[in-house]
Amino acid sequence: MQLQKLVRNVYPNLTPYTCQLADLPIEDLKKVLNKDKVYKLSFNESPLGPSSKVIEAMQKSLLELNLYPDSTGEELKEEISRMEGIDKSQLLLSNGADDLIVLLAQTFLELEDEVIIPQITFVQYLASTHLMGAKPVFAPMKPDLSIDLKAILERITEKTKLIFLCNPNNPTGTIIPDSEIEAFLQEVPSNVLVIIDEAYHEYADSEEYSSSVKYVDKGFPVFVVRTFSKIYSLAAVRIGYGIGDARVVDAIHHVRPPFNVNAVAQAGALAALRDQEHVEQAIALNQKGKTQLYELFTEVGWKYINTNGNFIFVDMGRDSQEIFDSLAERGIIVRTLTGYGLEHSLRVSIGDEEGIHAFIQAIKEII
Ligand SMILES: *Cc1c(COP(=O)(O)O)cnc(C)c1O
Repeated sequence: MQLQKLVRNVYPNLTPYTCQLADLPIEDLKKVLNKDKVYKLSFNESPLGPSSKVIEAMQKSLLELNLYPDSTGEELKEEISRMEGIDKSQLLLSNGADDLIVLLAQTFLELEDEVIIPQITFVQYLASTHLMGAKPVFAPMKPDLSIDLKAILERITEKTKLIFLCNPNNPTGTIIPDSEIEAFLQEVPSNVLVIIDEAYHEYADSEEYSSSVKYVDKGFPVFVVRTFSKIYSLAAVRIGYGIGDARVVDAIHHVRPPFNVNAVAQAGALAALRDQEHVEQAIALNQKGKTQLYELFTEVGWKYINTNGNFIFVDMGRDSQEIFDSLAERGIIVRTLTGYGLEHSLRVSIGDEEGIHAFIQAIKEII
């Protein structure tokens, strides 16, 4: 068999999901590190887990595993539409936000189209651009490592189709001030779609942050991506959603596989939305952990960026791999950022009290 002749031309640009230490499931980490207890602070997972109401709803849905799910998830869409003040036609569900990022690329990108991506941001924008054989155009960050909208505007050409913004941004935790977004959207040509990934929306606490959902009804070419994987603690079942112009939503429906969002996930997401008390709890836990980590970083003299997510970007002024390895020896896994050319920084997820305590103790031992 000649695999080279079978695969698409874009194949050399694609990479399988890496399975470095930071990406391994907890059980595998325990084996590799030979530890009974490991703290995985590399995935931005919720340390709280779903509420009992969510688990109950999902258990109930298991009794109907023989049935196909509702293809468009009407009941869940109704709840989201009500919460977000949008029409159901402006909303579609997806098999996680990652799935939606791929669907957007498949719906809109032709070979050679250009996609503008900030230099330091979530990696799936680049992966789906490569998947379609489109051309990534990187925009540099501001000196404070936040997203530079001016640099993005300067890179728009006749070939630009999509612009990816992550707000709050993973891995820096920075936000784009709301006042900058509207001015930016006014400058973007109407044949370009601006995708705003709000995976960490619920965690954002900067006064200058605001969701971009409102720009959909104002007629701007924006498409907002959200997920149930982070604050809602449902990463395992894969469910997210997108909000945009009804015509954009309809275009994605032309491409989407009919049953991409499973019934268990739909049931869990609906129950999760209806349990906002649990969301408040998750925010409070994150807030507390954030404060403890800021104190640690201040104490040891490491520069961190104020975060609007459930993770912190920290610049240690020294080789990040060394710190990563020393933490791993102690059963703590964080994320290095060398893929972005950042040799001195780490991204640390804000874990539960036990995880944060273990991290703080470990850092004090290491330095
Ligand atoms: C975690 C994350 C996602 C992925 O969400 P899923 O719904 O689990 O696919 C998307 N975007 C950003 C910025 C993320 O950090």
